[in-house]
Amino acid sequence: MKPAYLVQKLRHFYGRKQVLNIDELTIEKHKIVGLVGPNGSGKSTLLRLLAFVEYPSEGKITYFPVLEADGRPLRFQITLLCQEPYLLKRTVFANIAYGLKIRKDTRNLHDRVAEALEWVGLDYFSFAKRKWYELSGGEAQRVALAARLILKPSVLLLDEPTASVDAESAQRIRDAILMAKSEWGATIVISSHDRNWLYESCDQLVHLLRGHIIGSAAENIVFGPWKWLNGTLWYKLLDGNQRLILKGAENENSVALLSPDSLIVRPLSENFNFFDAEKTQREVCYINGIVSALIMERATNNILVSIAVGHITFNARLASNHQMLYPGQKVILEIPTDSARWVS
Ligand code: ADP
Repeated sequence: MKPAYLVQKLRHFYGRKQVLNIDELTIEKHKIVGLVGPNGSGKSTLLRLLAFVEYPSEGKITYFPVLEADGRPLRFQITLLCQEPYLLKRTVFANIAYGLKIRKDTRNLHDRVAEALEWVGLDYFSFAKRKWYELSGGEAQRVALAARLILKPSVLLLDEPTASVDAESAQRIRDAILMAKSEWGATIVISSHDRNWLYESCDQLVHLLRGHIIGSAAENIVFGPWKWLNGTLWYKLLDGNQRLILKGAENENSVALLSPDSLIVRPLSENFNFFDAEKTQREVCYINGIVSALIMERATNNILVSIAVGHITFNARLASNHQMLYPGQKVILEIPTDSARWVS
């Protein structure tokens, strides 16, 4: 596979504050890459750097352009769609046609605008003549995306494209992204809070925490505060007075990373005895939860199950011989106490 980007020894600062510290990251061409991580972990900053609207304080980002048959780089390569999409104070048609007009590429303009609207699931006759203020948040986001897609960029960088949109728009945006990949081989990098949306859409996931890459999977992040229990055991109090017990925290503000492969999910059976289970809790921690979603993980073709434990959601990757699970079901989550990786 050919890389679209190679990021090496990247450090980025705002003032004295380091916001990114990435030793190496390769983004392959024609892939959909998801950036996942809590607020402030550096996702938007990384997207701005990949768009070359900002330059890294240290290190290097190399972009490998897509070439025409004659070896010249294609003209329109990289586009960034920001979280708050900017629309011109004009009609939907004018917004979408704008980029092509600038490039003096106006052949079949109406057909191409209609096609771009179709990609994002908006009907030409209902939308082309609407003004920028006659759109819902989700529709505005889709118009802004159509205005990028019509230029068929080689790289599409999307910052929180589904942050303030309805479920239909989120679905349409995903369809449009998959289309850009399959129709002209676009490379797409998307940041999102909506982890499940990303798991369903991406070929590769990059998990960021405090500017560092902490993994490439659907890792669970559990923030403190942790309380010392005994020996090397620490616990975090979860809703319903349950305790998540793990070995090896450095201090009460450590952050635990739990791989979705290390969590086992079993339907809660009537004869399960938490009291007996507590006795073995040095090795395994048992937690009561409710299945909140079953997600197909595109990158691995596995099923991820989301388990809600009060306000926290854990993701576990199901083994191929897993038992039947369904949303709303009460389950037991088994977490080996030594399965955490810790970040301080
Ligand atoms: P995310 O997209 O993951 O929420 P950001 O990349 O927006 O994270 O922010 C990473 C960190 O950099 C945050 O602590 C944020 O406050 C800081 N930051 C982002 N942009 C700027 C800026 N222009 N000036 C100063 N600090 C910034």
